Amino acid sequence: MASAVMGTYDRFDIAFERGEGAWLYATDGRRFLDFGGGVAVTALGHCHPHLVEALTRQAHRLWHCSNLYRIPDQERLAERLAGLSFADAAFFCNSGAEAIECGLKLARKYQQVVAGARERFRVITFAGAFHGRTLATIAAGGSEKYLEGFAPAMEGFDHLPFGDLEAVRAAIGPATAGILVEPVQGEGGIRVATAEFLHGLRKLADAHGLVLFFDEVQCGIGRTGRLFAYEWAGVVPDVMAVAKGLGGGFPLGACLATSRISAAFAPGSHGSTFGGNPLATAVGNAVLDVVADDAFLAHVRTTGAILHDGLCAVAARYPGVIAEVRGTGLMLGLRCVIPNRALVAALIEGGLLSVPAGENVVRLLPPLIIGAAEVDDALRIIEQACTDLAAKAA
Ligand SMILES: *Cc1c(COP(=O)(O)O)cnc(C)c1O
Repeated sequence: MASAVMGTYDRFDIAFERGEGAWLYATDGRRFLDFGGGVAVTALGHCHPHLVEALTRQAHRLWHCSNLYRIPDQERLAERLAGLSFADAAFFCNSGAEAIECGLKLARKYQQVVAGARERFRVITFAGAFHGRTLATIAAGGSEKYLEGFAPAMEGFDHLPFGDLEAVRAAIGPATAGILVEPVQGEGGIRVATAEFLHGLRKLADAHGLVLFFDEVQCGIGRTGRLFAYEWAGVVPDVMAVAKGLGGGFPLGACLATSRISAAFAPGSHGSTFGGNPLATAVGNAVLDVVADDAFLAHVRTTGAILHDGLCAVAARYPGVIAEVRGTGLMLGLRCVIPNRALVAALIEGGLLSVPAGENVVRLLPPLIIGAAEVDDALRIIEQACTDLAAKAA
């Protein structure tokens, strides 16, 4: 696969030329059920008519406009995200990492300018976290494999075990500015934070004047069956990053915050050339039209529960292949006994796309629009892959 593209990805040798709903069609004629969703990006599947309509209508009017001027769709999307969440204000960008960068800058600025605590810059993060691939976000994530060769790592992050409140209490010091956590770790292996852990973080943040920052880049926008994953625990952050599903396949990210924190940003504090441009925010608004609906979210919860039950049944029949089913809503993981990549490869053979994750997990992140037929198809393919792999292992 020689190519002029830099070799940063370990790619499967498949190219897709068309997508429709939960299905992808490859250039070699094969058809795949897409339970990877571009890693939780295509929340409404491929070429959803409402998104195609919003994108093409906007494409005929105005693609880009600088943030030197007002952008009505951006203002509308910010108002809607605020109305649907704890937040009062949004900053728009083009990716998850940028949304995290914005939140990290905001946390520092809030502490150093609004709260008058100039010594506060450190942020507590957790093992297994993934926050992006910029220099700041690889330092935040703390994963050796992403930091390797990029020394020196940006200063200011304290990495603690996920779920360990005692460690957080002990690590908070005079330089601590905030706590950054994924309510459901995606890349780390579909690890769901307990409500007790998130409540404990909220209490510690309040007691010490820290910014509580949730990374919902993967678990937000309906993925868990609530619009935002933090709703499950009833724990409200001060700052939250979203991206992936927000644009349904169009690059769009946002950093949301309460007005107390966002007051730290003034004209000139932060910026982005492309962030929240007319095309991106037209699509973002169209995504919300569909996802921010009680019946739609109830459908995600129901479908997720059926898929979860089906996966548990398969796992019980193949204990030599699948050790555990994890996750919530349509953010599910299969912790494998065999190497996870072997299961991903076997599923591709059967026509199902999935995504490997940490802790030897295979992630299933199907479009939120799937129904009973797609769940049945997926379970059948997973069962067959398990049969084949169990026979090989024997
Ligand atoms: C994907 C992801 C990011 C980074 O998003 P990019 O758009 O790749 O920069 C950050 N946090 C989480 C939880 C993610 O899943």
